[in-house]
Amino acid sequence: MSNRAYNFNAGPAALPLEVLERAQAEFVDFRGTGMSIMEMSHRGAVYEAVHNEAASRLLKLLGSPSGYQVLFLQGGASTQFAMIPMNFLTAGKTAGYVKSGSWANKAIKEAKLIGETFIAASSEENKYMSVPDVGSLKLPDNAAYVHITSNETIEGTQFRKFPDTGSVPLIADMSSDILCRPFDLKQFGMVYAGAQKNLGPSGVTVVIAREELLRESPKHLPTMFRYDTHAENNSLYNTPPSFSVYMVNEVLKWIEEQGGLQGIEQKNEQKAGLLYEAIDASGGFYRGCVEQGSRSTMNVTFRLASEELEKLFVKESEQAGFVGLKGHRSVGGLRASIYNAVPYDSIKALVEFMDHFQKSHG
Ligand SMILES: *Cc1c(COP(=O)(O)O)cnc(C)c1O
Repeated sequence: MSNRAYNFNAGPAALPLEVLERAQAEFVDFRGTGMSIMEMSHRGAVYEAVHNEAASRLLKLLGSPSGYQVLFLQGGASTQFAMIPMNFLTAGKTAGYVKSGSWANKAIKEAKLIGETFIAASSEENKYMSVPDVGSLKLPDNAAYVHITSNETIEGTQFRKFPDTGSVPLIADMSSDILCRPFDLKQFGMVYAGAQKNLGPSGVTVVIAREELLRESPKHLPTMFRYDTHAENNSLYNTPPSFSVYMVNEVLKWIEEQGGLQGIEQKNEQKAGLLYEAIDASGGFYRGCVEQGSRSTMNVTFRLASEELEKLFVKESEQAGFVGLKGHRSVGGLRASIYNAVPYDSIKALVEFMDHFQKSHG
């Protein structure tokens, strides 16, 4: 396979080649059933085994802490922005949000449609170029939860440490960095992620939550928007995105083969280190957007001296086989998304291209 692009897409994003090839091998005839996994009943034993395996594999990678359940939902992380307040932000309560950037703001917007919110910490005054200080959050007695975005995909910031919220459940949108490193699930009431960045293809949203939280849905909520519906039915109340769940299971197997989360973290640090070093060693030709201690290992954002030069960078990079290096339309600049599945060699090639570009335009 020599025609694979250097894929730095932000999402949907690169998947491990091994996973794609394995899926290809069993695409038409899934393990002797005479049909694709996409063509079989989600109530049959074959699919259900895959579904349950994906959930238990995910918990196992996180150390199998007791009292947590995995849900496979639809509607993306964006639907979770609404479902979280719909289920937990009941009358008389308020919900705390850590205002760290574009995705946090989208979550806040939805919560405000449902109930009372407060900003627990913010880095808005720093234009979100660092993560907010969450060292000592002051939480009101009626706080339903605190919501944090572990990695801001657009700005390129990432939390290194999570706040201690005591008995108030901490909920994290981990869409763009779930399973990029080990983390202590027990710190969280709930974490969730759209799969299309670090877990698999689009179409499934993974929720991992404390079982008791998943029993709290207010009685007036429509069936499909209630966590208890999905928890009580093992995410099989309605037809799940079966192919996406199958792919998530395959990606999880691949993560195990990389040495689990410790192995993945080591690789991610090497990858991000290589790229940030190239930026920092360019004598100001490339400028990292984010403060040192807040830099993301998943989304590396950087700028050139002018928008014109950035346009040229995107154009020439595309001609050289690189995909997805244009920054998000809302912030401009350049961004290399280097999720788990992006190979070290892609970053090595990018760093070489950057050096070459600087020599011809610097
Ligand atoms: C991509 C992304 C989302 C949106 O995910 P959808 O599945 O498209 O709804 C939310 N939060 C973060 C941090 C993201 O990176």
